[in-house]
Amino acid sequence: MKYRRIAVLTGAGISAESGVPVFRSEDGLWEKHRIEDVATYEGFERNPTLVHDFYNGMRQSLKNKQPNAAHLALTKLQDVIADKGGLVSIITQNIDDLHERAQSHDVIHMHGELNSLLCEYCGTRFPFFDNSSTTSECPHCHHQSMRPDIVWFGEIPYHMEQIEQILLKCDLFIAIGTSGVVYPAAGFVSICAAHKKPCLEFNLEPSATNSRFTYSYLGKAGTTLPAFVDYLLAHDALMVPSTLP
Ligand code: NAD
Repeated sequence: MKYRRIAVLTGAGISAESGVPVFRSEDGLWEKHRIEDVATYEGFERNPTLVHDFYNGMRQSLKNKQPNAAHLALTKLQDVIADKGGLVSIITQNIDDLHERAQSHDVIHMHGELNSLLCEYCGTRFPFFDNSSTTSECPHCHHQSMRPDIVWFGEIPYHMEQIEQILLKCDLFIAIGTSGVVYPAAGFVSICAAHKKPCLEFNLEPSATNSRFTYSYLGKAGTTLPAFVDYLLAHDALMVPSTLP
């Protein structure tokens, strides 16, 4: 098997066909609020109720969403490669749980998770599916000091040491539905390219880091990714983008 260790980075674009709005879409929650107000710690300090409500809205709307063909293709890739003794590591910038609901394993959420709360007082994090507020109580220390378990702009993403090891050990890097402007995730392709690993991008249009990729597969990930995965599993080779259906 040529590609035994595959590192996959996913962004908001992989969930777009499930109806989860991407960062810069014209509809949806993101468009109605300024990033500084809902995705920075300063915004949370200024107006915690607004921030709780923003993520409550996303958390509730996520309940009606389903994984799409791209999420399912990644699960298939992960399962088949695992059966052959390899490893597909999924690193996601997404805070939704659609990879998990597609039955993918060991998903690394570098920007946190919507269905989780974090206690600012004692650092406990726990699964949470309801609505949070400034009076939500930590089940561990009982302080009313809960925040959404989201990595905001200016904060350090989770699991960076583990991610670095995955990037250094992989023999193929795949980025799906990410605009390539939010760092450090946008820099992953440069690390892999510097180590001469093939790097593939799946996006509607070339991303900001497009020049670093070996191949770009342009189109909806729900169409391009299943075709790519089937080809890879059948031929143990990378499909040439111009032969996409
Ligand atoms: P982004 O919104 O900046 O970029 C999304 C990218 O996906 C764009 O380049 C777009 O062209 C592409 N895209 C859109 N639809 C696609 C499709 N059907 N197939 C393939 N590509 C498609 O997202 P980002 O790069 O992930 O960065 C934004 C930040 O916002 C992330 O850190 C993330 O945490 C957060 N975010 C998460 C979600 C989520 O959890 N689903 C949604 C919005 C934003």
